[in-house]
Amino acid sequence: MGLQDINDRIANAETDAGRVPGSVKLIAVSKVQPNARVQAVLEQGHRCFGENKVQEAAGKWPDFRETFEGIELHLIGPLQTNKARQAMGLFDAIHSVDRPKLAKTIARIAQEEGQCPDLFLQVNTGEEEQKAGVFPADADAFVAECRALDLPVKGLMCIPPVDEEPSLHFALLAKIAERNGLSGLSMGMSSDFERAIALGATHVRVGSAIFGERVVG
Ligand SMILES: *Cc1c(COP(=O)(O)O)cnc(C)c1O
Repeated sequence: MGLQDINDRIANAETDAGRVPGSVKLIAVSKVQPNARVQAVLEQGHRCFGENKVQEAAGKWPDFRETFEGIELHLIGPLQTNKARQAMGLFDAIHSVDRPKLAKTIARIAQEEGQCPDLFLQVNTGEEEQKAGVFPADADAFVAECRALDLPVKGLMCIPPVDEEPSLHFALLAKIAERNGLSGLSMGMSSDFERAIALGATHVRVGSAIFGERVVG
């Protein structure tokens, strides 16, 4: 538990997998956490954070950015097209580009603003009805479509089904990324980030194992 422990475990997983030390980026998922816990992690020197809601992020990160330099913010939750412009102003990366309509909206705003966050395309590797993302069979076409829109696609993202072995999903995502020439792999959470690193994750999204269980309500 805690930032230092997770950093150590990431370093060990990199070594075990024969990966370059420091090649995996830790996104500390701060959604719903009390500000005091987030501040404590900032004071330990960590600067890369993830949020799953635009509104919640807009409420807390501008203040933190005034106090702490070099904060990098990643959106990891679903994005409605009508919040795309706000999200693009707030986040350095968006991991939840999950449908052509959203990609087109982001492309239009990027043209207008002259800038765009790094993008990860979400793949619904478990083909779950309630989950966002394109199905694996549609992923190559979606990557091509986003590239045709001139979007800065850095990689792919997935959230495996809760009741399945995540490694199968990580391996599938890695395979789709490789055949599309994408180097970024956003995969792995508190319970499975070491397995994700073994299969090539470049970005792990870890919340409760750093901050403690999320306090809701
Ligand atoms: C909340 C969340 C995480 C972090 O989950 P933990 O189990 O707390 O590590 C990672 N990715 C996404 C998309 C999330 O919504």
